[in-house]
Amino acid sequence: MKTIARFSPALLFLTIIYMSCTEAPSKKTDLTTAVTKQDFGQADGKPVYLYTLTNKKGDQVKISTYGAVVTAWISADKSGAKNSIVLGFDSLSGYLAKPPYFGAIVGRYGNRIADGKFKIGDSSYTLATNNGKNHLHGGLKGFDKQVWDASEVDSIPALTLNYVSKDGEEGYPGNLKVTVVYTLSDDNELGIEYSAETDKPTVVNLTNHSYFNLTGDVKNTILNHTLKVDADAYTPVDSTLIPTGVLQPVKGTPFDFTTATAIGARIAQVPGGYDHNFVLNNKDGSLKLVAELADSISGRKLEVYTTQPGLQFYTGNFLNGSIKTSDGKPINKNAALCLETQHFPDSPNQPSFPSTLLKPGEKYHSITKYKLSVQ
Ligand code: BGC
Repeated sequence: MKTIARFSPALLFLTIIYMSCTEAPSKKTDLTTAVTKQDFGQADGKPVYLYTLTNKKGDQVKISTYGAVVTAWISADKSGAKNSIVLGFDSLSGYLAKPPYFGAIVGRYGNRIADGKFKIGDSSYTLATNNGKNHLHGGLKGFDKQVWDASEVDSIPALTLNYVSKDGEEGYPGNLKVTVVYTLSDDNELGIEYSAETDKPTVVNLTNHSYFNLTGDVKNTILNHTLKVDADAYTPVDSTLIPTGVLQPVKGTPFDFTTATAIGARIAQVPGGYDHNFVLNNKDGSLKLVAELADSISGRKLEVYTTQPGLQFYTGNFLNGSIKTSDGKPINKNAALCLETQHFPDSPNQPSFPSTLLKPGEKYHSITKYKLSVQ
């Protein structure tokens, strides 16, 4: 395993001053952050790597260059015990078996596009359909199943991943250059910054598909987690999970999470479980706190900040125990949940939704931060 320990100049300076003024520091005052790289197998004939970002608290986020997947986020719970708050596997084979987007960067378009069709001006495009008659999460081989280049490892710690999606890939127009930067701050904030550029008009909607279970153990469902979402409306869907186009006020419905509420409290009133886009009150595209997830077993709280207009809240409804964790536990329905920051599903066919069109010369840019704390 190759280890690249990095010191930020400011931290290095402070460390030298501290060491020259005091007794030798104990292990607890170690201010280093590190990024390590290890082989993670091969896909499409290319080598795949697993990077581990470690912050000065000792929390770790592991990221695979296959699918730009967050495979683990390891932190201490209220009793000091460490485990991962996201679903993931410790070997590449788990991902090659095509789990439902565990931890992956999803693109070129996160969530569904009705009938796999859309128009830009007078040009019609037909995409791969992989979810009944609809296109889901980028098609048959979306960004989650591609090998990304890890072009830069930084001292924050951070990892930059690049992928070029070719003109015509899965039916989308334009060569799209995508960059995703993951950072792990010392106060346990996982930052994800997305950028993209195209050489033809296209549609783009990038997200991260991590499945969270704050207890760190899939034996506990997420139904006792509480959730607060800063959204006064959501987008109801048809039987194939395509939005009807209506922005439905949440007030008086099981979708009202404007105050922290147990996820299981009203889930029985939502056929199939939650799998809906929330219309965030965040209208100006600035980075805002939009959701808070909390769990009393672990004492953990996860805050979600984003510049995006929507949040897909998915309660793992299609998980059915057929996929097992690396240590053999079945991953059952409601074993984890997703909080996918994004534009609304099917926006290319819904003129009243915020636009997902990207033209040559423009820059796609969005930021999401997941901040973890223990109470
Ligand atoms: C979608 C679900 C889908 C899941 C896994 C979510 O983003 O909204 O309908 O089953 O991803 O593919």
